[in-house]
Amino acid sequence: MSGATASGTPVPDPATEAVAAQNASVVLGGRPILRRVDLVVRPGEFVALMGANGSGKSTLVRTLLGLYPTAGGEVRLFGDRIDDFDDWHRVGFVPQRATAGSGIPASVWEVVAAGRLTHRRPFSRLSRADRAAIDEALEVVGLADRRRDTVSHLSGGQQQRVLIARALAGHPEVFFLDEPTAGVDLPNQEVLAATLGRLKERGATIVLVAHELGPLAPLVERAVVMRDGRVAYDGPPLGDHEVHSPLFGESHTHHHTGTPGYVGRADHVPHVGSPVDRPTRPEEESR
Ligand code: ADP
Ligand code: MG
Repeated sequence: MSGATASGTPVPDPATEAVAAQNASVVLGGRPILRRVDLVVRPGEFVALMGANGSGKSTLVRTLLGLYPTAGGEVRLFGDRIDDFDDWHRVGFVPQRATAGSGIPASVWEVVAAGRLTHRRPFSRLSRADRAAIDEALEVVGLADRRRDTVSHLSGGQQQRVLIARALAGHPEVFFLDEPTAGVDLPNQEVLAATLGRLKERGATIVLVAHELGPLAPLVERAVVMRDGRVAYDGPPLGDHEVHSPLFGESHTHHHTGTPGYVGRADHVPHVGSPVDRPTRPEEESR
C-alpha cells in the first residue's frame, strides 16, 4: 500500500500527505506545461489553486489525478505512486465545465447515481447504502426535489451542483473541484460554500481551482498560485483588501514577495501577483 520507493528515498507517509507532486513536469503537445511543481496537500486541508488563465491549474489537477503522465518527477495519492494507486473511491473530481447536461437526457438522480460506480461490483444492483448515499448527496446540494428533472433543463449553477453531488455520493476523502464557481450566480456559490464547509467539517481534503474565491474565501486555509506552469506562491490566502488593491497590476512591489510562502526560483519571473493575478498575454510571459 504505502509507496516505498527505490533507492532509499523517504517513504511517503499517507498520514501527512493526501496529495503530492514532487518535481512534477508535464509536457503536452510538445510544450512544457508544468515545470517542476512541488505540492503536498495534507489530509483535511482546504487548498485553493489560483492563477491566471493558462497558468496550468487544470493541468495540475488532471496530473494529480493521473489523467496526464508526468515527463519528470512524481505524483502520489495517499502515499501511493499514482501508477500504483487503485483506491479511486477515495477520490472525487468535479471537472471544469459542466458536462452533465451535454445533450444526454439523464435525470439528476441518474447522474448522481453514477457517482456510486466505484463502490459497486460490476453489474450488481444498487444497494441500500448506494441509495442512501445518493439521497444524501442530493440533499446536501439542495437538489432532492429535482431528482427526476432532466439535467439539461437545469441552470448552469444547478448542473454544477449535480456534478458535485455525483462526486459527493462516492464519499471521497479527497475532492478536486475545477472552477466550480465559474459562471455560477451568487446564491448558488453560497450553497456551494455551505456544502464544502460541511465536507471540510467531516475532515475531507479539498483542492479547489478558483479564479476568485467569493463566498468560498472563509473556507480557504492555503492558496497555491500558479504562474506559467510553476508554483509562484504557496501560503496563506491574501486578503480582499490586497486582491482589490489598486496597486495590484503592472509593476508594484508586492509585500508578500519574500515571505515564507513565496516560492522563489532563480529562473522565475520576479513579479508574483496576488492569487487573482490578471490573465497574462503570451508576449508578457517572456519578459
Ligand atoms: P488553467 O487551468 O490555469 O487555465 P490549463 O492547465 O488549462 O490552465 O492550461 C495551461 C496551458 O497548457 C495553456 O497554455 C494551455 O493552452 C495548455 N494546454 C492545456 N491542455 C493542453 C493539451 N491537451 N494540449 C496542449 N496544450 C494544452
Ligand atoms: Mg482551467
